[in-house]
Amino acid sequence: MSKSILRVEELKKYFPIRGGFFSKPVAWVKAVDGVTFEIEQGEVLGLVGESGCGKTTLVNVLLKLEEPTSGEVFFDGLDLFNMGRKDLRRIRKHLQIVFQDPFWSLNPRLLIRDIVGEPIKVHNNCSRGELVKRVGNLLEMVGLPKDGVYKYPHEFSGGERQRIAIARALALSPKLVVLDEPTSSIDILSQAQILELLKKLKESLGLTYILISHDLSVVSHMADRIAVMYLGRMVEYGPAGDVFDRTAHPYTKALFAAIPNLDTEGIDSIATIEGNVPSAINPPSGCRFHTRCPMAEGICKKNQPPMIDLGGGHMAACHLIE
Ligand code: SF4
Repeated sequence: MSKSILRVEELKKYFPIRGGFFSKPVAWVKAVDGVTFEIEQGEVLGLVGESGCGKTTLVNVLLKLEEPTSGEVFFDGLDLFNMGRKDLRRIRKHLQIVFQDPFWSLNPRLLIRDIVGEPIKVHNNCSRGELVKRVGNLLEMVGLPKDGVYKYPHEFSGGERQRIAIARALALSPKLVVLDEPTSSIDILSQAQILELLKKLKESLGLTYILISHDLSVVSHMADRIAVMYLGRMVEYGPAGDVFDRTAHPYTKALFAAIPNLDTEGIDSIATIEGNVPSAINPPSGCRFHTRCPMAEGICKKNQPPMIDLGGGHMAACHLIE
């Protein structure tokens, strides 16, 4: 039976904009504004949307790098925002992230032994010999030779560095890994290899992923479920096949229409939609997409559309959906 590993309820994260003599909040950036979703163990949730849609802030809150403004998150049945330090320390081991840029995320002055072994040293007491053995095993797991433990990051290619970043994320046997644009900084051949590696690791280790990507071809290749965000809100959510086949929200349709042709344009082409994402400080009234939506009607400016259940776990927020 499938088991929920992450349940997010009405999550909000507002950032204050301070001004005046007392530096009081004069406005709020509503980066995440009432997001609800669930991921089952072993699934890949593709989180998509243009820059500024709130996906990075959402993930930062889930990883406890930012405090939420309100809402609830349950990880493996535990209330993430109301737990003691001991539980939190244990939970942190199971929530890991692979960053977009392996050049930036790996300290160039440290040996791979220390980069990949750092989380092991922090959470476990083990000898130098045991650490080297465990890091070697992790390197092997991501397709690199064990003797890489005594090398520095500059001795590896971009794709190999991303493998090292994946090895570090797996060091504490996590349950959920956030993949933040995991292939956008590496060459096209390595991109396909990294995606295959991530799929293989997911199957063999029973991992759950949140995959952040602006590249819908990557999401379609990996995701079981898709969550589409626009200006801090989720506008469509559901099983990946259903969201691709029965796309309901005009914003998702516009994103999908812009999927690049990989043969001719390459994987770095970014979806484009008329106009820019409005400011999250003073978002448009009603449906936040109405300033760019080709189908907008009078009601769209006035009322925020509710999430409509389209069946099979597929939902979308648009006034035009019956
Ligand atoms: Fe477009 Fe209106 Fe639907 Fe928003 S609610 S997506 S503006 S049609």
